[in-house]
Amino acid sequence: MNTEPNSLDFGFLRGGAPVAVLGLGKSGMATAAALHANGVDVAAWDDEATGRRAAADLGIPLVDLTEADLSDMQFLVLSPGIPLHFPDPHPIAKRAREAGCAIIGDIELLYRAEPNARYVGITGTNGKSTTTSLIGHILSEAGLPIAVGGNLGTAVLTFPALGASGTYVLEMSSYQLDLIDTLIFDAAVLLNITPDHLDRHGGMDGYIAAKERIFAGQTGTKAAIVGVDSAPSQEVADRLAAKHHRHLIAISVNKAAPRGVSVIDGWLIDDLDGLGTREIDLKSIKRLPGTHNWQNAAAAWAVARVSGVAKPDIISSLKSFPGLAHRQQLVRSIGDITFVDDSKATNVDAAEKALGSYERIYWIAGGRAKDGGLSGLEDLMPRVVHAFLVGEAAPEFAAWLVGKAPATIVETIDRAVCAAYAMSKADGIGGVILLSPACASFDQFPNFEVRGRFFVAAVNSLASATLEART
Ligand code: ADP
Repeated sequence: MNTEPNSLDFGFLRGGAPVAVLGLGKSGMATAAALHANGVDVAAWDDEATGRRAAADLGIPLVDLTEADLSDMQFLVLSPGIPLHFPDPHPIAKRAREAGCAIIGDIELLYRAEPNARYVGITGTNGKSTTTSLIGHILSEAGLPIAVGGNLGTAVLTFPALGASGTYVLEMSSYQLDLIDTLIFDAAVLLNITPDHLDRHGGMDGYIAAKERIFAGQTGTKAAIVGVDSAPSQEVADRLAAKHHRHLIAISVNKAAPRGVSVIDGWLIDDLDGLGTREIDLKSIKRLPGTHNWQNAAAAWAVARVSGVAKPDIISSLKSFPGLAHRQQLVRSIGDITFVDDSKATNVDAAEKALGSYERIYWIAGGRAKDGGLSGLEDLMPRVVHAFLVGEAAPEFAAWLVGKAPATIVETIDRAVCAAYAMSKADGIGGVILLSPACASFDQFPNFEVRGRFFVAAVNSLASATLEART
């Protein structure tokens, strides 16, 4: 018996006009390769020669889309990294619009290839990846055929065809939501909304509108799961209620959520059936520390429940969740000093969560600053024993920290690890050496994963040197 899963079938596009693919990074390359392998006429392009060369090596036809007649194309598949509207549309996106050529993303294409599968979408400013992988973990432990990806990890057009019994669990950035056309989510999660990426959405209203799109077209039993602890997402919930959304589930970690899921003092309370049952004490789950993770757990709980997973199975999966790398991940301890990798904290909101989770913190921060710098973190500064500042933002952060917490500019993360360890050891009280940069990584690293791995490597080499010195 052939147990190999089927590949996605794009036969419905074969023999038609070419499909333009702009952007040959991870998702764009997977798109171009999947279409080409299915015999679809592809016209691929990337502004960068490296992307074009990589496509040519795979035999993917290249067409200069800056000049081609785009009205001849079936549609343009745009990579989510390429601006569609703001700050300025990419010239090829602009040309496509002028030529009447529809612009979609790879997730819309997945849906067109697999229209009978179930779709779960997760968006929000923070917590998307954690919630997506937690949902993936719970559904797969329950034995459901699933594939997990999107903004997180795997490019969706490398997924297997799951058919009507399968569920695609998709982390959706606001850019990817901009590129959806006919896909309607069976369960859609909006965790929270705080300012981020505003330049790409023409301000806060555009950003909220992009996030709200995750609920577009939902009718009947299709579930809208909305975190109501941030004012903009509460307003989204209010708008859905005003439009008489039939299956609106509120999530809160600071108040009761009638007919929703709340977490009060760590206890997850399921009121989906109006019973308000206390289900599990999330404080006992070490891999989901902090109220922000309780919000993620509550959203995952709601998705699992509407997906038909039994409560005891959800509870055991919450307990067995392995956690995600670079999100407050415990790296190791040396004596009473613990190293935590929160490289994914690329903005102040995320860093706030990590700083709020520990008491005595030797804080490694910096990189490429976002608008507003560190403002909003004032109340947490008494927890910071000392800040070690790296990257472009170091001078700005040092100036902000004056009078709030002692700080030293050390420029690089490996130096920060050594300096922080030396200081914490001399202090002799113990504490947490926390990488939670509140900055993008792009000044010194290609992405936050590489930054996190660099931190972990620095911690490990410090640990071996320390242990060798002791023996
Ligand atoms: P995203 O994929 O949305 O960027 P992640 O799950 O990767 O979110 O988490 C990114 C950072 O945000 C983590 O460092 C964590 O500290 C913080 N975080 C996680 N969940 C939440 C949440 N629900 N609300 C606010 N911050 C969160």
